[in-house]
Amino acid sequence: MIDRAKIYVKGGDGGNGIISFRREKFVPFGGPDGGDGGDGGSVYVEGNASVTTLRQFRYKKHFRAGRGTHGKGKNMHGRNGEDLVISVPLGTVVYNEEMDGSREVVADIVEKDQRALVAVGGKGGYGNTHFASPTNQAPRTSEQGRPGEEVTILLDLKLIADVGIIGYPNAGKSTLVSTVSRARPKIADYPFTTLEPVLGVVELGYKSFVIADIPGIIEGAHTGAGLGIDFLRHIERTKVLIQLIDGTSESIIDDVRNIAAELGSYEVDLTDRPRMLAVNKIDIPEVRSRLPEFREELKDVGLPFDFISAVTGEGTEGLMKKTLELVLQSEERRPVITMGKEETGFKVFRPRPLSPRKTGRDGEKNG
Ligand code: GDP
Ligand code: MG
Repeated sequence: MIDRAKIYVKGGDGGNGIISFRREKFVPFGGPDGGDGGDGGSVYVEGNASVTTLRQFRYKKHFRAGRGTHGKGKNMHGRNGEDLVISVPLGTVVYNEEMDGSREVVADIVEKDQRALVAVGGKGGYGNTHFASPTNQAPRTSEQGRPGEEVTILLDLKLIADVGIIGYPNAGKSTLVSTVSRARPKIADYPFTTLEPVLGVVELGYKSFVIADIPGIIEGAHTGAGLGIDFLRHIERTKVLIQLIDGTSESIIDDVRNIAAELGSYEVDLTDRPRMLAVNKIDIPEVRSRLPEFREELKDVGLPFDFISAVTGEGTEGLMKKTLELVLQSEERRPVITMGKEETGFKVFRPRPLSPRKTGRDGEKNG
């Protein structure tokens, strides 16, 4: 899955101002009439619900807004360059990467049409008209357009779902999503079938929530082994977690503990996220016969638990109802995303302070 991309964006250069003088019949010494250059276009990143991955940035990495055209005589202003709008999926965090590799959050794109300015276009230069003064009525000075801002941008897609289903490969996560929603993720009994998180909408009466089948957790996920780190990044934004446990596992209690350890060792503490346990595959007789034993073991964990069969659907409606309750309860407490040392709320949109002065008109002149 392409959920991270580095791209290079450049605002359009400003057009040059020009040196020109009026030439009219019967006016021997026409005054200056050199027009200003047009401003360069700026580059924006915009949330687009129909874009779901960052795949488009795999090969195309350079983006440039239109340049301003040069000024003309008769005080004609150059045309402004066209802005460039780059569509990204909802859930994309936009970082500005400095030369030294440090990063700063520019925006957290979570809504449709939400826009963030990532590279400012250069200002057009002044034509010589601007430099006329009582002592210099025929200025031979004009400005060059300023270059557009050039920036390295890191796009980081983090899934937005209300509920994340986590668990070891083969626990039945994909099967559960397909049972409770209309989503049709790939199902197979080998690990890592789920390479991309699959979203499904669970409808319960008039209420609904978005559930995500997240790539299998594996031990040592927080250290970056296998698919683990991606999985943890995606659950940062969920409100509620369903931890699915394979009922055929040798020790379900070990599974519960190992995953709790993974959640606790990630850079964002995920252990306080409301969590439900669900033991799956109870349609299998050997699993069903162990339910009293499981019940005893899980009592001590201190989390709500359910027994289900993702295949037959047994117990899944009850599980979804309890999950909905937790989602509604946590609606007020939005998850917090940790970015570097700063903590920003889920919907916080913090445009980078613009620095138009950097590309402003007070630069050097030519002429
Ligand atoms: P995931 O890796 O967690 O997404 O697991 P999958 O949904 O791909 O399921 C892994 C295997 O377990 C598949 O062969 C499923 O058919 C099987 N499976 C999933 N849920 C159940 C269940 O409730 N009962 C039984 N008997 N098998 C299940
Ligand atoms: Mg799967």
